[in-house]
Amino acid sequence: ALSVAEEVAAGWVRDLLGLPAGCGVGFVTGCQMAHFTCLAAARHAVLRDAGWDVEAQGLQGGPPLRVIASDQAHVTVTVACRMLGLGAERVRLVPTDDQGRVLIAALETALAEQEGPTIVCAQAGEINTGAFDRISDIVELCRARGAWCHIDGAFGLWAAVSPTRRGLLQGFERADSWATDGHKWLNVPYDCGIAAVADSSAHRAAMTSTSAYIPPHDEDIPWGFDWTPEFSRRARGVPLYAALRSLGRAGLAELIDSSCEHARRIAHRLGEADGVEVLNDVVLNQVIVRFGDDDRATNAVIDRAQQDGTCWLSGSSFRGQAVMRVSVVGWQTTADDVDRSAEAILEAAQRPNAEAS
Ligand SMILES: *Cc1c(COP(=O)(O)O)cnc(C)c1O
Repeated sequence: ALSVAEEVAAGWVRDLLGLPAGCGVGFVTGCQMAHFTCLAAARHAVLRDAGWDVEAQGLQGGPPLRVIASDQAHVTVTVACRMLGLGAERVRLVPTDDQGRVLIAALETALAEQEGPTIVCAQAGEINTGAFDRISDIVELCRARGAWCHIDGAFGLWAAVSPTRRGLLQGFERADSWATDGHKWLNVPYDCGIAAVADSSAHRAAMTSTSAYIPPHDEDIPWGFDWTPEFSRRARGVPLYAALRSLGRAGLAELIDSSCEHARRIAHRLGEADGVEVLNDVVLNQVIVRFGDDDRATNAVIDRAQQDGTCWLSGSSFRGQAVMRVSVVGWQTTADDVDRSAEAILEAAQRPNAEAS
């Protein structure tokens, strides 16, 4: 019964996001394991095309495999590469613009450097700015070079359900694999990542296992272990089923859009104040803010805002500068909460440093 509920949830994910109808979907613990799963499928496919069976032979003695990502790629992309034997430090990092979007010309140059099996990791929703790589261009470049295009959309992929924000992801449905989370923007408990792979046979080949006591099965019967690294696991697709069932397409779009509106609202409130600078174009639910012109001032405001407790936000670093990172994802957050949070942050910015007083 739980397998069936998960199959239904997988179908809804394909449909809501507009992914290819036949793509493989695996429910994993989080986006890191979604990267691991998708990139294992990628590793299978690009090496299969080069005449190498990586599941049977491993990487040793096989053709070299390149991974290209942006210098703002989330750390979990490189961790997944590390765990797949691809080497965290071998990931070729390509420069990005002031919003954290990969520079297409630089990516084109990197792709042209070498022939052979290649995986490109694009990003839909940069962790600080919420910016989207120009996915349509990246997919084109990958197609032209026979490279696999993987997308990290831990939270940003859900922009696809918003009619007004889907354009941020233009062309993403032609990518080869997608990693996202339920436990961020869908507000389900931790242990809910989603790995989707267009070539379901590559997905299955990378993950499947079997044993004499498992009844023979084909693609008509869903077996969890065909799509995830685990042999046994809890039915983690069920909370996702529940969230999607209760929200529906319209409710999900409303959750995404209202978070984005709230992010815009807080950016506007903060940006109006003297000595406060919003550093990013607020295209999604992320806002990065700087107070004064040194890192110490910004970090002090973050500390005081955290102590105040009206809202919770963390510090981050973007392009070498300390920033306050505001991320709006809570389904219960209202415009009033946003205003109270903005006031509390601005008050924290005005209070003198504890050490100084
Ligand atoms: C959170 C996040 C991840 C990692 O997700 P987990 O579910 O914590 O493994 C990867 N990429 C991006 C862009 C993220 O925001």
